[in-house]
Amino acid sequence: MAEHDTLRRFIFEHLPVQGRHVHLDASWRAVLERQSYPAPVRALLGEALAAMALLSATLKYEGTLTLQIQGGGPVSLLVVQCTSRLNLRGLAHWRDGPLPSALKELLGDGRLAITIEPVGQSERYQSIVPLEGADLAACLEGYFQHSEQLPTRLWLAAGRDSAAGLLLQVMPQRAQSPEAWRHVTVLADTVSGEELNVLSAEQLLHRLYHEEDLRLFESAPASFRCRCSRAGIEDTLRGLGAGEVRGILREQGRVHVDCEFCGHGSDFDRVDVEALFGTTVRTLSSEVRH
Ligand SMILES: [Zn+2]
Repeated sequence: MAEHDTLRRFIFEHLPVQGRHVHLDASWRAVLERQSYPAPVRALLGEALAAMALLSATLKYEGTLTLQIQGGGPVSLLVVQCTSRLNLRGLAHWRDGPLPSALKELLGDGRLAITIEPVGQSERYQSIVPLEGADLAACLEGYFQHSEQLPTRLWLAAGRDSAAGLLLQVMPQRAQSPEAWRHVTVLADTVSGEELNVLSAEQLLHRLYHEEDLRLFESAPASFRCRCSRAGIEDTLRGLGAGEVRGILREQGRVHVDCEFCGHGSDFDRVDVEALFGTTVRTLSSEVRH
């Protein structure tokens, strides 16, 4: 029986290699519920989500990881976030028209950035990842290798019902063995996307490495969760400016904002809008009067 919405870490007892496996099910379907994505966009979004879940397990502190692609091709935007507690959300925008499946054609002269925001710190760490690989996994391998200074390989797959990923990485604490690394990665290269999506961590690792001694650690649960808040939406409205927001209010009698990640709606009436833009003015005028 496949485990659902879980991330598992494992190590090879006698080889200097560690790994992680992620299987997203309900959390992935929750992302798909908000929007009906064409297959190539859905595949890319699911792969990005699985990749960020795998990467989040390497964070040494609590925080949020964001993968953002600004595309120059048919996919104009893709955003995926995962916290160190494996709370996930994601979305993508695409232009109408025929969609290629190759990454380069989907994204054109796109820009891929990975940002780490540690909880309770104002600092953010951003890396730009060159979109040079044939697929997302290949692009991200360079990032992992650079950020962790360790040879790393990734296998990602996403379908209608699940998104999954496997990560293998050299273990720094042990004597290095290029032969062992080649051995485990050549075997992992035989995995199909279908197998990644269908098999549980145990099944997949047994299929690949039944001749090796593997230690599989306890699974961590992953879930869909949006961090949107009224305060965040207020910031967005302030960013639009008083003129624009008051214009919407005049036309529609209220300002309605839906969170694009989770679909949660917020309404702002005249009093709310004035509170957003008018507070400073009132404070100043009362100061002048006294
Ligand atoms: Zn939301």
